[in-house]
Amino acid sequence: MRIILKYKNLNLEYSESLIEKLTKIGNNSYPNEVGGFLIGKYSEDLKTLNITDFIMPKKYTSTPISFIRNIEGLLDLFKRFFSKGQYYVGEWHTHPNGSSDYSSTDLRAMINCAECSTVSIENPVLLILGVSKNSLIEHTFYHLKNKALYKYG
Ligand SMILES: [Zn+2]
Repeated sequence: MRIILKYKNLNLEYSESLIEKLTKIGNNSYPNEVGGFLIGKYSEDLKTLNITDFIMPKKYTSTPISFIRNIEGLLDLFKRFFSKGQYYVGEWHTHPNGSSDYSSTDLRAMINCAECSTVSIENPVLLILGVSKNSLIEHTFYHLKNKALYKYG
């Protein structure tokens, strides 16, 4: 099932099964955070962002309150998506305390991510999944604009 969220005249589209897959990964990593990259594509008028897939980092460090991913070894995978017209659109990670509110660290990381030269998108998406040991409590999609995070939906 496809879900469409809005922020002003922007749409974000994703499937329920994507959230189910990420939730499972989050439950398995509980009580530590886990996360990775989001893959997607924009509509021709750039008004709709379709989240199509995700990539797990090969290397990362995580604790119950932090998650740092590494892009090492993933270039070929990103290239494969790119050849299908899909590309990096943002980041996702879990919060094992169950809340999908973003932290000041999350905001800083997204600002760095937008300023990083290898990332060409202007408004990266951040998906936070608040999880418990065996379920999803809530999830929120944000996008970065002018160094602030705005919630979709
Ligand atoms: Zn966070």
